[in-house]
Amino acid sequence: MSLLVMPKQSADPDEMYSVLEIYYKINGWLSNKDLIEKLKLKLQNKLEPQAYTKKTQIPAYFGFIEWEDQKNSQSLRRITESGKRFFESLKNENKNLVFEELLFCLETLTFGKNALGVSSNSRIEPPQLFVKCILELGFITRKEFGYILNKLDKDEENFHFLLKKIYSNRKLKHINFKNIPNKFTDVKPITIMLKWGFFEVIGKIDNNEQITINKNFIDIYKTRLSALKIFNDNNNFENEDLSLINTLFENFKSLDKSFEKNYQTRLQELQTTDGKETKSQSRKEQSILRAILFKNKSEDKCAICHILLPTDLLVAAHIKPRHKCSLTERKNSHIVMPTCKLGCDDFFEKGYIIVNNNGVIIKNEKMNVSKQLNLILKNLEGKICTHFNTKTDIFFKYRQKMTSL
Ligand SMILES: [Zn+2]
Repeated sequence: MSLLVMPKQSADPDEMYSVLEIYYKINGWLSNKDLIEKLKLKLQNKLEPQAYTKKTQIPAYFGFIEWEDQKNSQSLRRITESGKRFFESLKNENKNLVFEELLFCLETLTFGKNALGVSSNSRIEPPQLFVKCILELGFITRKEFGYILNKLDKDEENFHFLLKKIYSNRKLKHINFKNIPNKFTDVKPITIMLKWGFFEVIGKIDNNEQITINKNFIDIYKTRLSALKIFNDNNNFENEDLSLINTLFENFKSLDKSFEKNYQTRLQELQTTDGKETKSQSRKEQSILRAILFKNKSEDKCAICHILLPTDLLVAAHIKPRHKCSLTERKNSHIVMPTCKLGCDDFFEKGYIIVNNNGVIIKNEKMNVSKQLNLILKNLEGKICTHFNTKTDIFFKYRQKMTSL
C-alpha cells in the first residue's frame, strides 16, 4: 500500500502568490469563508468553494501557512514568520532569499509525515529526495524521479541501487517507465519549486526535461543541500548516504554570510506560547541548533575527543538534557555542543564521562565498565571539553549534578 500522500492541487505560482498575499495582508487568523471570498475576487473566477481552500495546501506543505487547530480542516489559518519572509522575497523578486527560505523548509520540515495540508505517513521526504537525486545524478527527469519514488514507496529497492539503475539507464535504456502512478511523476511541490526558481530546466533528454538545482545557488549551498535528509525514520541513514555524496563534493568556502543571523532569528521564532509542542517543532528546533552549530562546515571537531570528523558523524548534543530545559534555554544556541557518534555522544549522554567545573573531562567512577571500555574512557580523561566556557558552564554544572548523583 502506498503511504506517500502529496498535495494534488494546482501549483500555479500566481495563485500561490495570491494566497500568500491575502494571509500576509491580514497578518492574523483568517476563516476559510473569508479566504474564499478574497481569493475569488483576486483570481476572478468561479470555482467550488473548496477549490479555493485547497489552494492553501501547497503553501501549508512548505510551512508558510499554519492552522489554529491542526486536526480541524475548517480551522482558522494564518501566515507564519517563514511565510511572511517568503512572501516578501517573492514580492521583491529576491531570488536568493526565495531559495534560502525554501532550503530552510527542506532542512526543518517533515514532508512525508503529516505535513500541514496533507496527511501522509511515509518515511520518504519527496522534495529532499529530489535534491539528493540531482546532487548524485547531475540532473533528474520527472519520469526518473517517479520511478525512484515509486520503488522506494513500495519498499522494493535501495536508494543507491536505484541511482545506479537510473545512471545506467541513460545509456542502456533498460527501464520501462510505464505504470508509474501519476502522483509520482507529477509531483506538485517539485513543480512549484521549479516555478519559484529553486530548480531549473537545463535541457531535454528523450523529450523529458532535465531538472537541476538553480545554478546560481548550488555552489553556495552545496554542503547544506548535501546534508538534507531523505528519510524521516532512520537516524543512521546519514552515514550511508552522505559518505557517497561527500566524495563527490569538496569542502567549499561559504558565501552564505547572513547564515548565522538568519538562523538565530528562526530559532527565536519557534512557537512556544502554550507549552505544548509537536514532534515537528522539536525536530525543527534540533535542525536549527544543528545548523547554527555546524554552519556550512563539512567537518568539525568533537568537543570531547577533539577528533576532526565529517559533520555527518557529529551530533548537536544537548549539554543540559532538552527535557530539563526551560523554553529560553531551548532557544539558546549554546545549549548544544558537537559530539561524535564514535562514542563521545553516548559516553556523555549516558554519564560514562563528566565535564567537571574546570571543563576537564573525567571518567565517572560510579559506572561499572569492562577493562576495554575503561581504556577508551581513560584516553578521554584529562582532555578539555572545547565547548566549556562562560556561556555553557551552567549547563555543564546541571549535567554534572545529574550524572554524579
Ligand atoms: Zn568524540
